[in-house]
Amino acid sequence: MNHILKNCLYYGASRLGELPFLRARFAARAVIILLHEIQPDCQSELMTGTSVSLFEYLLDWLRREGWSIVSLDECLEKLATNDRSRRYAVLSFDDGYRDNVSVALPILERHNAPFMMYVPTGALTRSMQTWWLGLRKLLLARDEVAIEALGRRFHCSDLRSKRSALSEVTDWVHQDYRRSAMLAPTFEQNGISLAALNDAYFLDERELRILARHPLASIGGHTTSHAALTTLDKSLARAELADNRDYLENLLQLSVRHVAYPYGSWGPREEHLAKEVGFQTAVTTRQSRLHDHTVNHFALPRIGVYSPSGFRARMSGIMEAVR
Ligand SMILES: [Zn+2]
Repeated sequence: MNHILKNCLYYGASRLGELPFLRARFAARAVIILLHEIQPDCQSELMTGTSVSLFEYLLDWLRREGWSIVSLDECLEKLATNDRSRRYAVLSFDDGYRDNVSVALPILERHNAPFMMYVPTGALTRSMQTWWLGLRKLLLARDEVAIEALGRRFHCSDLRSKRSALSEVTDWVHQDYRRSAMLAPTFEQNGISLAALNDAYFLDERELRILARHPLASIGGHTTSHAALTTLDKSLARAELADNRDYLENLLQLSVRHVAYPYGSWGPREEHLAKEVGFQTAVTTRQSRLHDHTVNHFALPRIGVYSPSGFRARMSGIMEAVR
């Protein structure tokens, strides 16, 4: 959809959602918010994360609109006991990015806001195939990029063309996650080390151990290798979930009871597996809010944050109602 049209639509929906009768009609009880990187300088990372200003806006907006920011456990408890005194928001960060601690944590502390971080084993052991970081690094470094697996050569000397190339290749991988492995020769030819990117961008074991003791932090699983579970056979998918849980529990000496499906790739089989290996909840990337206690705890929806008006539109429920 045209970018301007989309922004107009979000703006209109967010304003509609502020009308008292619509707000009462579509108001949700709770929401889980999905975040990844919190970037001080988004342009230098091709606008792939949430800016510090948008992150601060989101926290201020939640407080102003009467949402209590709580842990996932507290949120589910409030839903289960049908506590209607407040509306509850849970903040979740996927993948274990280092900027969640260096940039976001001081802001979270200022707001006294609890949060959940979903961490794959491979980020900590520096073995995760972070093709999205490799592509970003490649496009930032070069003005002409050939992606042989896709049969495309991109001329990208400015931010706009680099973002457009990143979006095209990323969409191509999202259509079939097995394609991510096909990018390895391109990274190798261009001297891009995914292990070095893991090192630069993700917390290490020591840092995660410290974070896990922070009173505002909860740590959840995110599989061993960050694989799209639905592309794996059942025993591999099960091992991805169980081994990551064991690894985190051993490392942190804490019980790990919550998980996020990488790429939001899940179905009834993954819900069953997550439950079977001992998790109590699993979150997805389905864009929705939580309405009551009948919500499926192994397919919890979340709301992404990409712009102030898009966020307000999703929070109002108008976008969901239209869909
Ligand atoms: Zn992830």
